[in-house]
Amino acid sequence: MLVLSSPSGAGKTTISKKIQQKHPNFKISVSHTTRKPRPNEVDGIDYHFINQDNFESMIDDKKFYEHAKIFGNYYGTSKASVDNILKKKYDILFDIDWQGNKQLSKFKELKLTKIFILPPNKEELQIRLKSRNQDNEETIKKRLIEYNKDILKWKDYDYVIINDNLENCVSQIEKIIINTKEKVKI
Ligand code: ADP
Ligand code: 5GP
Repeated sequence: MLVLSSPSGAGKTTISKKIQQKHPNFKISVSHTTRKPRPNEVDGIDYHFINQDNFESMIDDKKFYEHAKIFGNYYGTSKASVDNILKKKYDILFDIDWQGNKQLSKFKELKLTKIFILPPNKEELQIRLKSRNQDNEETIKKRLIEYNKDILKWKDYDYVIINDNLENCVSQIEKIIINTKEKVKI
């Protein structure tokens, strides 16, 4: 199980999709969120988009392995989604924040490899958030404010990788996957 976290806009989604394309044994865990879909996002593929009442009912019914409030919206990993992927014997890739990583890490039986992705610097992050062209100014501002706190969480991870050149970054993650699989002899 691979956890990828990063400050928003550092490139997790892009990297996750590339890893899944190159390693079809990996399935990306599709989270639930109360955030509104971006223009290019598809329900059930990028996220399960649900409203706050439904999300809170799922929390009450203990349907999440982990959940967190991020930038004013709920995000969570449902037990059903994960168990479904595991049943089919796939590897899982989690694109979750540091709070989710902390909660998942408490399940000692989960063999997690945790990678923290950083942008080369904050200016580049701002450029990426703007060029993604999916969030308004206010949302981008909120994400840049969180950056200063987010980067302090690197210590909770097994590896820290700087996503400067995308292909280099993906290839470093692939090396980690191969080495980890050899170590645990899956
Ligand atoms: P996150 O999922 O971490 O919020 P995204 O994967 O959505 O980030 O990436 C944010 C933007 O940065 C996207 O427009 C993406 O194409 C771009 N991007 C990702 N990696 C790089 C890179 N190494 N160099 C330049 N742009 C990148
Ligand atoms: P975005 O709104 O850009 O898609 O995601 C915002 C943040 O929420 C990112 O850091 C992303 O990794 C995180 N995130 C997405 N899904 C989950 C989840 O299920 N749980 C947690 N804890 N964080 C998530």
